[in-house]
Amino acid sequence: MFKIVISKEIYGISKTICRRIREEWYAFALGRFQNLNGNDMVFYITDLYIPQQEASITHVRIPSSSMVEMFDAFSVIEKERENWTLLGMWHSHGEVRVFHSFVDLENINKIFKTFPTQHLPMGSISEKIFGPEILGDIGIEPIISGGFRGIRMCFGSTCLEIDFRQQIDDEKFFANWYSHFYVMKAFVEIIKEYFGSIPIIKGALRKIVRYIVSVVVNNHNEIEGKIFAFDPYKRSESPSSFDASISIENLRDKPLFARKESLNEILSKIRMV
Ligand SMILES: [Zn+2]
Repeated sequence: MFKIVISKEIYGISKTICRRIREEWYAFALGRFQNLNGNDMVFYITDLYIPQQEASITHVRIPSSSMVEMFDAFSVIEKERENWTLLGMWHSHGEVRVFHSFVDLENINKIFKTFPTQHLPMGSISEKIFGPEILGDIGIEPIISGGFRGIRMCFGSTCLEIDFRQQIDDEKFFANWYSHFYVMKAFVEIIKEYFGSIPIIKGALRKIVRYIVSVVVNNHNEIEGKIFAFDPYKRSESPSSFDASISIENLRDKPLFARKESLNEILSKIRMV
């Protein structure tokens, strides 16, 4: 469902920083995303933006000043890499194992609340509303109220109504379409009788979400990736989180900020306290 592809170059830079810093540090993850067949999302981390910060042995909290720096970086990204976006957060736990702590979740919420949603990847998730339940009989009946006004289709205990929002008094229309629903009834019977399986029914609601990608690394080359899906219309609601598979690959995109030659410059932004 969710896949994070990290550029080999970026992963190498992160490992180098971990070797030199040893404590907790963080960065904003940048890159692009791809929505495959409407369900599977792939996030490509092609760069890290490392703001001025103090490395910490406890959990890092991202201050507002870092957010401001990231805002400035957007103008560079828009000019140089038009298909890139802010993906989320990348941070190290130093010597500690990789997991998402309570503070990490606070930082992720802060990123979502701070940046305009157009800077974050968009997609959709299906929210289960019922099922699975065994599909019993299919019942199809016209909704008559003064005239022919709609159709009610019941799949077991689940019903769906199509409201025409007008009265259609055309016998031909009625007869033509009603016959199609009988074909559907037969379809379930054929699956049962001929193919020998009993169909089940599930219901899901698709909703548009904005994603935040989060990767946790440490000094022992461990890594964990999670995807947080926020409902942009319910900004105070906590996100749904999903595990993501991680792969490290050679990507054609060249980093803009975390270039190897400026490693000392990167390191100078992370002060040890
Ligand atoms: Zn953490």
